[in-house]
Amino acid sequence: SQTHYDVIIIGAGASGLYCALTAGRRGRRVLVLDHANKAGKKILMSGGGRCNFTNYVVEPEHFIGANPHFCKSALSRYPSWEFIGMVEAHKIPYHEREHGQLFCDDSAQDILTMLLDECTAAGVQVRLNTQIEAVQTFQQQTPARFQLTTSKVLNKKDVASDIKPSQAHYSCESLVVATGGLSIPTMGATGLGYELAQQFGHTLIATDASLVPFTFTDKTGELIRALAGISLPVIASNERIAFKLPVLFTHRGLSGPAMLQLSNYWQTGEIISINLLPDTDVTALLLDRKKSHPKQLIRTVLADSTDNALPKKLLAALQTHLWDDIKDTELANIKDERLIELGTTLNGWRLKPSGTEGYRTAEVTRGGIKTDEVSSKTMQSNLQDGLYFIGEVLDVTGWLGGYNFQWAWASGFVCGEVV
Ligand code: FAD
Repeated sequence: SQTHYDVIIIGAGASGLYCALTAGRRGRRVLVLDHANKAGKKILMSGGGRCNFTNYVVEPEHFIGANPHFCKSALSRYPSWEFIGMVEAHKIPYHEREHGQLFCDDSAQDILTMLLDECTAAGVQVRLNTQIEAVQTFQQQTPARFQLTTSKVLNKKDVASDIKPSQAHYSCESLVVATGGLSIPTMGATGLGYELAQQFGHTLIATDASLVPFTFTDKTGELIRALAGISLPVIASNERIAFKLPVLFTHRGLSGPAMLQLSNYWQTGEIISINLLPDTDVTALLLDRKKSHPKQLIRTVLADSTDNALPKKLLAALQTHLWDDIKDTELANIKDERLIELGTTLNGWRLKPSGTEGYRTAEVTRGGIKTDEVSSKTMQSNLQDGLYFIGEVLDVTGWLGGYNFQWAWASGFVCGEVV
């Protein structure tokens, strides 16, 4: 048996649901297929369960990708206040946190319920537990361009009783791939979107875990682990970018917003720099104190005199690590060069991560389907009529702060307008 739809969307996540409700509102017959047993799992776990659903300030600079211009058109056609308007129409309580980030007051479930309600109102059908076996194109040019073969995802009981998965066939005029990235495989992430893109001749930009904590295996790793739990505002930077945000020391390495943001811009083997006292010129301070208070110790100066004094435990650990030999020496007896060296380190601690925590904990996947082969206005493939790619599966990665969802809504919207 064959069932025909105008639009079939693979992936009932953020971008797929938004595309579905947009196309459904236009009167298109829309089917959303997902292999998971629940729609929008990543929405539910996002923003610590409160979903940072967008940001007041959305600029192309908040996104990375091989073609930095690609995201501009969709983002300008679907600004964040459009999504905020929908949230308000559904009377979902929300609040702003620092840097314009918008979160639900209660639960991310509110956002998912809103999207599913809008889909229902627009006549969209969502079919879960559905495995995509194959996607083919019809030889003849009929309104139906694609044929999908699917099977039911079996539960453990069915597998045990040897039940064979039942197959189904669907055809459609427009096929939208909204399968997301590879992060958090336990939440249903797969590489199907990339495989389909390749099937139709698309190029992939190498993928990697991003918005992810750094790990360290050398001696620095031991120091960092000993400081687990400490959080402080820093400037984290590399040659490309700098973020003034908190860093968090953990048992596994360095995390917190500063590190996650920097990870978008980090390549394996590169050094990162952390300014532990971003509001203080430590070299100037130490040299100044050497003149005015020659009997002081370095730790006294750093504990008392900086705008954001270092946490005590961190100061003690840094002392052991960096100036143990002169810890009880008065400033007057320390050479200027040593104070300059120390100041330079504290204002730019250079660290070489051994890697990241990987897809297991990453919030996003950077890289993906090369955007030069996709229309930035409609998200349609330049290589296959009627085929569209939206959301994270594309080589568009946002900063931390609601930007990845805003990309999912915006790319889903512009696609939903034309499919
Ligand atoms: P997804 O929302 O991931 O949806 C993809 C869908 O495709 C899933 O339902 C999946 O089951 C389905 N699928 C995958 N493979 C197959 C297959 N083979 N067959 C059928 N279906 C398939 N972003 C923010 O902006 N703000 C946040 O607060 C935020 N918090 C996050 C927290 C965590 C822990 C994580 C992991 C991510 C977070 N993100 C956040 C990122 C955001 O969730 C994603 O960028 C966004 O969901 C991408 O939307 P998408 O539609 O492209 O993919």
